[in-house]
Amino acid sequence: MKPIKFDPDVCAGCGTIDCLMKCQYISFADVAEARVEKLKINECRDSRVLHECLTCYSCQEYCPYDNNPFYLLVERQEELGILPAPKPIVEEQLRMMAPRGRITKQPVSGPVVDMCAFPMLVGCVRGKLFEGATPIVGTDIFCNIMWLHFAKNSTIRERVPQMIDNIMHYYLKDSDTNELVCFHDECYGTYTSVADAYGIKVPFTPIHQFDFINQRLDVLKDRIKPLNVKIAYQRPCSNRLSPQTDRVLDEIFEKIGAERVPRKYDRENALCCGGVPRAHQRDELADELVEKNINDMLKTGAAYCVFNCPFCMATLGQEVAEKGLMPILVSDLVQSALGE
Ligand code: SF4
Ligand code: SF4
Repeated sequence: MKPIKFDPDVCAGCGTIDCLMKCQYISFADVAEARVEKLKINECRDSRVLHECLTCYSCQEYCPYDNNPFYLLVERQEELGILPAPKPIVEEQLRMMAPRGRITKQPVSGPVVDMCAFPMLVGCVRGKLFEGATPIVGTDIFCNIMWLHFAKNSTIRERVPQMIDNIMHYYLKDSDTNELVCFHDECYGTYTSVADAYGIKVPFTPIHQFDFINQRLDVLKDRIKPLNVKIAYQRPCSNRLSPQTDRVLDEIFEKIGAERVPRKYDRENALCCGGVPRAHQRDELADELVEKNINDMLKTGAAYCVFNCPFCMATLGQEVAEKGLMPILVSDLVQSALGE
């Protein structure tokens, strides 16, 4: 088994311990205390961080040296048997999301859009924006990054290479493209950040949905009717694995006339939607996060609450709608600016 790519010497020379000091869910008296806890994690000793972690992915973004603090934290949780969710829930999820072996060869042509395990989202791949695209979907190509929320790096190591093989063998190998447009941040994070840190080879070129849409908007610029609306954006945890794409999203919003209103819980300070603690059965924390997010959005005067994660939308969508904001996915907002 390949170890997670990380260098303890880089942590030893780190002055700020940003990975822990910036954590929004665990407090430390000072940098010295954070350093002690980080050292325990690095040396595979028990730390309160391993028990208190919300698994929000943010420390992956906070570390200025790309030293993979979150992937290592999950590794230690699994090694020490510290599960963030009750064991029966983890086991049920493992069964539910297992590959079914029902995949069959299908001719595809580019752009091939990976919809992960979300068949209900296939309808999003439509119109001029996705003209000529082939969506692919199912648990046999599930990116499996969710196991970071359940201390199951072993499942990532076991299943991700299998998913990559399926994508190549059943779709890309005999097609006219070697690119895979990832509709969900999670897939892009898996095939770029996770694959690099875990030493998993990826034989295709992953393209983030935002890069794809941004380029399509240049092609379709004559069709854009600026929306002239204020939007509140709910940044998902998995975007922490590709923070550079958040700036591409700004370009998209600018092109379609959507003003991303400043809110306290956006960008590096984004707050979990509440879905993960709900899945961990930490309901009080989940309720608190939902309330904080919604109150924060309401202060902005935004007309839309824009999501890029179907799980965030399922968690917050109904509540934001009840408060008068329209929940919508990024791609659907773009489609409406294209008059579709
Ligand atoms: S993981 Fe990054 S931020 Fe954290 S102590 Fe190591 S180098 Fe510093
Ligand atoms: S994953 Fe989130 S909650 Fe856990 S230590 Fe990192 S920043 Fe804190």
